Amino acid sequence: MAAGQPASPGAPSSVPGDSTRFLISDLCSELEAYLEPEEVEEVYRAYLLGAESHEGQTRKTGEPYIYHPLAVARTMAEMRMDHQAISAAILHDVMEDTATSKDRIRAEFGEEVAELVDGVSKLTHLQFQSKAEAQAENFRKMMLAITRDIRVILIKLADRLHNMRTLGVMRPDKRRRIAKETLEIYAPIAQRLGMNAMRRELEELGFSAKHPWRAAMLERAVHRAGGNRREPMKNIEQAICSRMEASGIVGRISGREKSLYSIYRKMRDKHHSFEEVFDVFAIRIIVDDVDTCYRSLGVVHNLYKPVPGRFKDYIAIPKSNGYQSLHTILFGPQGAPIEIQIRSTEMDRVAESGIAAHWQYKAGSESSRTAQSRAREWLKDVLEIQNSVGNSIEFLENVKVDLFPDEVYTFTPEGDILVLPRDATPIDFAYSVHSDVGNRCVAAKIDRQLAPLSVRLQSGQTVEIVTSPGARPNPAWLSFVVTGKARTGIRHCLKSMQSEEARTLGERMLEKALESLDTSLPRISPARLDHMLDTMQLEDLDALLIDIGLGNRMASLVARQMVGKESPDSAADVPASSLAVNGTEGLVLNYARCCHPIPGDPIIGQLSAGRGLVVHRENCRNVLHETRDRTDRTIALEWSHEPQLQFTAAVRTRTANRRGALADMAAIIADHGSNIEHISFNEQDGHSTAMTFLLTVRDRQHLAQIMRGLRRQSDVLRISRQRG
Ligand code: MN
Repeated sequence: MAAGQPASPGAPSSVPGDSTRFLISDLCSELEAYLEPEEVEEVYRAYLLGAESHEGQTRKTGEPYIYHPLAVARTMAEMRMDHQAISAAILHDVMEDTATSKDRIRAEFGEEVAELVDGVSKLTHLQFQSKAEAQAENFRKMMLAITRDIRVILIKLADRLHNMRTLGVMRPDKRRRIAKETLEIYAPIAQRLGMNAMRRELEELGFSAKHPWRAAMLERAVHRAGGNRREPMKNIEQAICSRMEASGIVGRISGREKSLYSIYRKMRDKHHSFEEVFDVFAIRIIVDDVDTCYRSLGVVHNLYKPVPGRFKDYIAIPKSNGYQSLHTILFGPQGAPIEIQIRSTEMDRVAESGIAAHWQYKAGSESSRTAQSRAREWLKDVLEIQNSVGNSIEFLENVKVDLFPDEVYTFTPEGDILVLPRDATPIDFAYSVHSDVGNRCVAAKIDRQLAPLSVRLQSGQTVEIVTSPGARPNPAWLSFVVTGKARTGIRHCLKSMQSEEARTLGERMLEKALESLDTSLPRISPARLDHMLDTMQLEDLDALLIDIGLGNRMASLVARQMVGKESPDSAADVPASSLAVNGTEGLVLNYARCCHPIPGDPIIGQLSAGRGLVVHRENCRNVLHETRDRTDRTIALEWSHEPQLQFTAAVRTRTANRRGALADMAAIIADHGSNIEHISFNEQDGHSTAMTFLLTVRDRQHLAQIMRGLRRQSDVLRISRQRG
């Protein structure tokens, strides 16, 4: 580190409250209790970078900014977190608020610390706009889903804890908003991870900031009532203590203060009066091992009569976050109930710090283990406790899904959260908003940047769907969407598009066929039409036209039936005038892949059941020839004057083997305004290679220009259009 670093913030200054300040020296001595000297050294280096980066910045309290990250690091140290997590805690705001970059952190402290800081910054960017209560649950899941390393969440919780502790300096409206977020998002996350000490403090601070009046009133009530209770409480503790001693049990007994928020919540949710909630003595007994827990239970049940039906064995059947204890309620001396919790030291540690407790005793055992595998280990441990009592389902549903989600959580531009299955794409997103949005989707913006429609969405992204009134779904979407809703929506829309197109084509084909019989559709009598539809068992004329367009019925036959000429022979000698196609007919008109017809080629249409009309080049060998089938199943076609689309033509070449030959050919093709759709290599010898190109062209003339251009290339030995 260069000289002239900012001094340690230990120097006394004009800011009040210095005596309670936590200094870097305090942090280091706390870390020395459980980390290696080199690790403490590295944390100190992180402190120097943090202090340098935040130099000149102050918090709302007027203190130098670095006190905040130091306080966050302290909470992490109290949880006995590893040195990377402590370093990241000290640096957690530098990417967000200072010029220090991720690259610099990576260069000085390695990938792990850089990723942790980056993760915290990502969470900071997430804005929770709680419009509906139900959204809070999804937002909590989103936070966990974004986080690949659970330590990021722990830093974020410690960050929030310190912000709550120093909330007093904020404007009242801001205070309430942050408090609400703390109660709805952060405290429940702490609870999910089994971190009860953290949860309790976040709740207390959140409650008094969100409902200052209610909190103050409750506090006064607790204070008034508490005075009368001190004596009897002491007596009860004393009585239990001596009974345990008499039975030879060693343990700690403590009275538990009910938190204001838990009193408030009980009063609100269970409609209890203050007295009902508060007039309970709460005592916790902590002993060495599980066996002693049950013996202690016997002791207290002997001393005071238990309230029937209120004993709960959370040791045999732990709660979903791994919490274990024995709970019982006793009739106290003056009839006031006594709530007792009995647990072992180990259970107490887990109950207070949850997933962080796992870190402590596993830390250092194998340093190579990743954070996520630690989280998995924690889950596994909890799962094992659960399995031994056959109660794993609730656990799996709650915790595992949170930490290893099968879902992605995305924002709409309005800030609502949309939950989608893993691997969902913008198309899935669009259909989950509404099928109309899906059907009209033309583009997507992810975090305000245009993105491909097939990209896999990630938790935390904001997705905006761009729609256009005339747009229609693309059949190719079916190959990448993952939700049933999108799949059904696309299929449904394509089907109705196809019916529409088939109806139009069917109508044109039938009119042509009728024309060759010197009549037309309007001249067919309605009675005749109805009779025909009846015998064909069809709903209406549209159904008949769709059938013709899809190739299920032959227009010539239907036309003959309509005019009453049932004999097929008589029609065969009347040549039908040809139908014009321009390439925009869509789903019911297909271009044959054997001969690749393009405008300018003589063409013929061949009906194929269910697919409609397939357009071939007239000399294609796949076209039926001079049989009776040919008359019935084929239809004369011609190109309309202005074909609309790009078409595909197949060209065969033989090219000298020279490095760069293919690139030169590709350049020539591009110069002529064509794209290569596909190249296949047919065979190769020592001198030359035979290839087939599929090229996009407008018509025969365009193709001829491209081929002339290629022929001039000296590497091209032979070139010809592929025949069907
Ligand atoms: Mn912070």
